Amino acid sequence: MSNIRTEAVRELFSRKPISVESPGAKVSDYFGTATFGLETMKKYLPGEAFEKVKQAVDTWGYIDRRVADAVAAAMKAWAMEMGVTHYTHWFHPLNGSTAEKHDAFFEMGLEGKVFEHFSGNALIQQEPDASSFPSGGIRNTFEARGYTAWDPSSPAFIVDKTLCIPTVFLSYTGEALDFKAPLLKSLYALDKAAVDVCQYFDKNVNKVVATLGWEQEYFLVDAALYHARPDLILTDRTLMGHASAKDQQLADHYFGSIPERVTAFMKDLEFECYKLGIPIRTRHNEVAPNQFECAPVYEEANLAVDHNQLLMDMMKRVARKHHFRVLLHEKPYKGINGSGKHNNWSLLTNTGVNLLAPGTTPKTNLQFLTFLINTIKAVHDHADLLRASVMSAGNEHRLGAHEAPPAIISVFIGQYLTRILNEIEARVPSDKMTPDEKTELKLDIGKIPEILLDNTDRNRTSPFAFTGNRFEFRAVGSSVNCAAPMTMLNSAMASQLREFKNQVETEIDKGIKKDEAIFRVLRRYIIHSKKILFEGNGYSDDWIAEAAERGLSNVKDTPEALKAYIHPSAIEMLDRLNVLTERELYARYDIRLEMFTKKLQIEARVLGDLAINHIIPTVIKYQNRLIENVKGLKEILPAGEFADAASYQLNSIRKISKHKALILEMVTEMINQRKLANHLEDVRDRAEAYNTKVKHYLNEIRFHIDKLELIVDDDLWPLPKYRELLFTR
Ligand code: ADP
Ligand code: MG
Repeated sequence: MSNIRTEAVRELFSRKPISVESPGAKVSDYFGTATFGLETMKKYLPGEAFEKVKQAVDTWGYIDRRVADAVAAAMKAWAMEMGVTHYTHWFHPLNGSTAEKHDAFFEMGLEGKVFEHFSGNALIQQEPDASSFPSGGIRNTFEARGYTAWDPSSPAFIVDKTLCIPTVFLSYTGEALDFKAPLLKSLYALDKAAVDVCQYFDKNVNKVVATLGWEQEYFLVDAALYHARPDLILTDRTLMGHASAKDQQLADHYFGSIPERVTAFMKDLEFECYKLGIPIRTRHNEVAPNQFECAPVYEEANLAVDHNQLLMDMMKRVARKHHFRVLLHEKPYKGINGSGKHNNWSLLTNTGVNLLAPGTTPKTNLQFLTFLINTIKAVHDHADLLRASVMSAGNEHRLGAHEAPPAIISVFIGQYLTRILNEIEARVPSDKMTPDEKTELKLDIGKIPEILLDNTDRNRTSPFAFTGNRFEFRAVGSSVNCAAPMTMLNSAMASQLREFKNQVETEIDKGIKKDEAIFRVLRRYIIHSKKILFEGNGYSDDWIAEAAERGLSNVKDTPEALKAYIHPSAIEMLDRLNVLTERELYARYDIRLEMFTKKLQIEARVLGDLAINHIIPTVIKYQNRLIENVKGLKEILPAGEFADAASYQLNSIRKISKHKALILEMVTEMINQRKLANHLEDVRDRAEAYNTKVKHYLNEIRFHIDKLELIVDDDLWPLPKYRELLFTR
């Protein structure tokens, strides 16, 4: 017998690691060589223009046309030396991927003479024919087009002989149609607010950037097996498949040796990343079989986001070369750990101070505590918005599923810091502090660093954990653009720091000394935000009950979670900070709902098709074999022996009929529900209908298919099984 599955497995056994050549002896020989970074820019740009660009980037300033022309000329000169023929504005549309439209450098002059040309205009602004990118109704396809505009803070780079220029994507009325524009605005707001607060501690601080180090988890699957699974091809996850006899119970994959073929892939990926200036550093196996992770050295958040988008794209390209497919879905396999993308986030000053790292003196530690406690309050006050920023059809499978950070947002800070916060709460008086009290408090916070080192982490179950010198937002899904959660976190923090500054000033106006005013406000925040601090096991049922008692929200489904985007408090805050307007938020809300609906719609269709075209015909074939066998037995055996000899077959025939009937019935019901849902006009109603009326069939139908997988002859089963997808390399 041979079918697409057995063919695929055969192909797999002939695989050999693809040999990869290093592009240079040392990483430093080729790191960033495919980017138009500062060093390259310096070499190709006149000194004055270079300074202007640098200054504009540092001060969020404007780049005038003349400088843009100079940059364009420099970029072109460099790119042509690198063999580049085309350029593109590279942007992050709201459907989560990245988009580009390639234009050739050459232009036709008079008398058909061809020459290479790239102007400042072409660098700064483009009009992609982008009518099919989601805009949530902002950009009516017929009346106006969007345009892309250069982001000078992220270096241009070369992929496949094309110069890619990072850009924002806006409508003609100025609304953001992408992820990058609001991210940049949130970084700006955070910079201003954080610098203001830093002034209490160090007058030399004039710029604060958010830093981001993402940890990208992913699965690899062999290309042949992948192609034998229409569900993987079309939905990036398996919609059926019985658990393998062995899965991750031994946890023997975690930190185990990386298989040769995978190592070759990783090396190749690293080479490509280094050329693009993406500083990926760690690579290791994850908990689940065939699951891996890579993480870079952290960077300024906007650059880190671009690098993550680029990495995901490179992963797909490089995987192909190695006859793998990379699965970025949050939950490709039922019963197997899903994939996340931890976002390690902190704040860095122009003076080189990490504001979330304990310092060495009482003064720097008060600064540390200020930023720590303000982060806690920001997360406390905007937990719903943070959850909304990461909730999706894919991530729903992780959050609230007892294996990933739960849908309850809580903050872990470790025992030692918890104690410090408790002390501040207990010891900062509501009236004036005595000099002794001040000294004592200061001495205590002066001791933070050495003890903290032993106390950081390792609570892996918290969605938002302090890990020694940064916070780690772990609820982010593996496939998403980190810009969304980063935008919300930066904004929440910016808003919080502004409030802090105002409240401290109010205290100071009342005649309270600065340090004491800070302590007072922090103490209030500790009391206010206490309920979000949780040190226990976030995966446990006890926590769900406790969180409910504490009044923390626990929202597991996407349509409900997304409502936080249009909650008056979110609209007020994001509008006040000039990050997103009400209209932009509504647009995002609608787009995310629509994405949710479409994902479920595709999954439901694929499952229905697979059930009808793959599974039912297969089980009928097997059932016929059993029937033939039973008939034969009846013919040759004496009546007394027949019943025994045929009992297993008869039983299986009945079981198959039962499961088959249920599958058919449910597929029909699911199709009907889908049709009803599709007829609903309003995106919200449609998402809700998919959520409550369609979604559950995916599990219910799969249950019966998975049962059939255990009954039917292995030879006949058409889809690669979990043991093959997960354990073969
Ligand atoms: P773990 O798996 O233990 O969480 P990793 O080493 O895999 O740790 O990832 C840690 C990530 O945190 C890396 O990307 C690292 O660069 C990042 N990181 C470290 N310090 C900071 C910081 N100050 N700001 C942002 N990210 C940071
Ligand atoms: Mg981590």
